[in-house]
Amino acid sequence: MNFEKKPPIVNEDEIFQILERTKEPSSQRVREILEKARLKKGLDLEEASFLANTYDPELVEEIFHTSKEVKKGIYGDRIVLFAPLYITNRCVNNCLYCGFRRDNRETKRKTLSLEEIEEQVEILEGMGHKRLLLVFGEDPSITPEKMYGMIRKVYETRNGRGEIRRVNVNCAPLDEEGFKILKSAGIGTYQLFQETYHRKSYKYFHPSGPKADYDWRITSFDRAMKAGIDDVGLGFLFGLYDWKFDLLALLQHANYLDREYNVGPHTISFPRIKPAKGAELSYSPPYPVNDFDFKKAVAIVRLSLPYTGMILSTRESPKLRDELFNLGISQISAASSTEVGGYKKEDGEGQFSIEDRRSLNEVVHDLLKSGFIPSFCTACYRSGRTGERFMSLAKPGEINNLCTPNALLTLKEYLIDYAKEETRNLGESLMESFMNGSSDSIKKKFFKLLRRVENGERDLYL
Ligand code: SAM
Ligand code: SF4
Repeated sequence: MNFEKKPPIVNEDEIFQILERTKEPSSQRVREILEKARLKKGLDLEEASFLANTYDPELVEEIFHTSKEVKKGIYGDRIVLFAPLYITNRCVNNCLYCGFRRDNRETKRKTLSLEEIEEQVEILEGMGHKRLLLVFGEDPSITPEKMYGMIRKVYETRNGRGEIRRVNVNCAPLDEEGFKILKSAGIGTYQLFQETYHRKSYKYFHPSGPKADYDWRITSFDRAMKAGIDDVGLGFLFGLYDWKFDLLALLQHANYLDREYNVGPHTISFPRIKPAKGAELSYSPPYPVNDFDFKKAVAIVRLSLPYTGMILSTRESPKLRDELFNLGISQISAASSTEVGGYKKEDGEGQFSIEDRRSLNEVVHDLLKSGFIPSFCTACYRSGRTGERFMSLAKPGEINNLCTPNALLTLKEYLIDYAKEETRNLGESLMESFMNGSSDSIKKKFFKLLRRVENGERDLYL
């Protein structure tokens, strides 16, 4: 395939030049950039780079303060919850940092059968989850047709009132036909991390297997978009290369998608490398990223792409996760297992180790206690607001009025069907204060739907 015709998605020389010329920014320049960021229209690469090169603690505090303001202005206090479901740890690739790598002989290989998928989904539904991310090692025997069957199985599985309303997928890049099959199965977001955008490092970390092909990976969203999947999720793995380079490259990738398809990334994820048994490198990554820089990266993405969903996994500790919610994170995984079949067993080896082991009830409880609104909302997806349509409503802030009541309706379902008493009480007082603080028209519509949820109806939204 010829990828040469278009200008490159990522221009390494340009990134290095920008990083060089934005070193040691003056406090005046940083404050000008933050002033612009407050308009919620995003930042260009050079501005983002000035912020990444800011180390003065006082100025970094100002960056954090601004990202909190922007986050709050767009997302309010909502945090969307999901769980990953690992389908297979069989993999033909040899990524140096991953426990699923082909040469890891210590791990037992497993692919969930349709019955086992059903069993895992019933457990997740029994916790109260409504959104799943299906995660696959790269196993050529799992064809898009087989994935189709697995995705449909997830949607069809019911446990009492429990159902999965949105299935997102993180799997190796497919061709356009393969993506069409995933689309027809009804996936939400197609998520894929470039790991590192730096070609030389990419080559080193991915020595063999199909993943060694950088271009096939970086062009996967083009094929997904052409196949009609317009919600795509980007990311890179923190720790493989200089995070500042990768951050600017990620922004170039996001800008490219916006230019080409008129829709930027639906989400950006923030995986940071964690120790993985049987991986060669995860215990001593070459470019370890400390919490300070990690927080800065989250804040800069929030300011650069104000309307993009930002995802954090259980890779991070509860304390850091709380800080990152304020800085920009809008979605988190909760009560997760990174092991294939892991929701049935208590122990075992996952893809990498996780830091946050709280149950879903505990996560919901703690979010409520910290003043956030835990949300299981899938209203946009269910009413066809995806891709360009979603962005055209999100950017002028038009869906924002609907988001909080819709989030609360899904929280209400959770409180009735799954929550423990203390969590329920916290949730109910949140409902009350929302009612007290909203306009009469929203209050009326919301109240009607709330009553219907109380009477046993599910999946209602404004
Ligand atoms: N096999 C597919 C791929 O590599 O794109 C998708 C699944 S892979 C399990 C999902 C992601 O896990 C990878 O993209 C990588 O960023 C992340 N990952 C791998 N090893 C990790 C580690 N040791 N710590 C944190 N994240 C890791
Ligand atoms: Fe396989 Fe993905 Fe792990 Fe690489 S990151 S070894 S491709 S599962």
